Amino acid sequence: MLIILLGPPGAGKGTQAERLVKQYNLAYIATGDILRAAVKSGSPLGKQAKTFMEQGQLVPDEVVVGIVRERLTAPDCAAGAILDGFPRTVAQAQALDQVLEEIGTKIDRVIHIEVDEEELITRLTGRRVCRECAATYHIKFNPPKVRNVCDQCGGELYQREDDSLSTVQERLVVYNKQTAPLIDYYNREGLLTVIDGNREIEQIFSQISSALETGSS
Ligand code: ADP
Ligand code: AMP
Repeated sequence: MLIILLGPPGAGKGTQAERLVKQYNLAYIATGDILRAAVKSGSPLGKQAKTFMEQGQLVPDEVVVGIVRERLTAPDCAAGAILDGFPRTVAQAQALDQVLEEIGTKIDRVIHIEVDEEELITRLTGRRVCRECAATYHIKFNPPKVRNVCDQCGGELYQREDDSLSTVQERLVVYNKQTAPLIDYYNREGLLTVIDGNREIEQIFSQISSALETGSS
C-alpha cells in the first residue's frame, strides 16, 4: 500500500501518519524529518538544505527526489509506505510517478487534509517535537503527559525554528503557490480523498482509515 498525505503545513499529516503507520504496518517517509536529521548531522545534504528550510522555502526538487528514490527502494518499503510532505511540487509528483513505474508499484490513495488557515497558524506556533523520535505534540491540543518530555521515548521536546510566526506565514504562501496545484493533479488521476482536518485527531484518523479501506473519495 502506498499512501500520500497531502495538505498544508500544520494540517496534521505527521500526527495522522504516526497512527496510520502502526495500524497498517507501513514504512514512514517524511522528507522534512529526513532533511532536519541531515541538517543536525551537518552532512553535505544538510548544508545544502539548511538555508531553504530556515526561510520556509522548498529545498530543490532534485535533492528531495533523490532522497525519496533511495528510501522507496529500501527493503522496509517493500510492504508499503506513507509519504508525508512529499511530493510538494508538480515536478516532484511527476518524478515520483517515474520512480514508481521503475520499481513496479503505484499510488493507492492521496489523502488531502484540509484545515482553515487561522487554525494552521495556531497549530504550528504551538507545536512541539521530540528531539529523539520526532513524535509531534501541541501545547494545548495534544500535550505530552509530562511537560516537554516525549510520551513515547522520554526524549526532550523542542520548538522547530521554522514554526515561528513569520516563517509559518511564508510556508503557507509557498504551500498555496507550489503545492496546492497537486490537489488537481491527483484529483484528475482519481486518487484524491479530501478529509476535513479541522476536527479532533481521532475523528480524522477514523475517516482516513475508512477511506483507505473502501478506497473512496
Ligand atoms: P503537519 O505534519 O501536517 O505539518 P502535524 O501533524 O505536525 O502537522 O500537526 C501540527 C500541530 O497541530 C501539532 O502540534 C499537532 O499536535 C497539532 N494537531 C494535529 N492534528 C490536530 C487536530 N486534529 N486538532 C488539533 N491539533 C492538531
Ligand atoms: P515539513 O517537516 O514537511 O514541514 O518540512 C519542513 C521543511 O523541509 C520545508 O519547509 C522545506 O524547506 C523542506 N521540505 C520538506 N519536504 C520537502 C519537499 N518535498 N520538497 C522541498 N522541500 C521540502
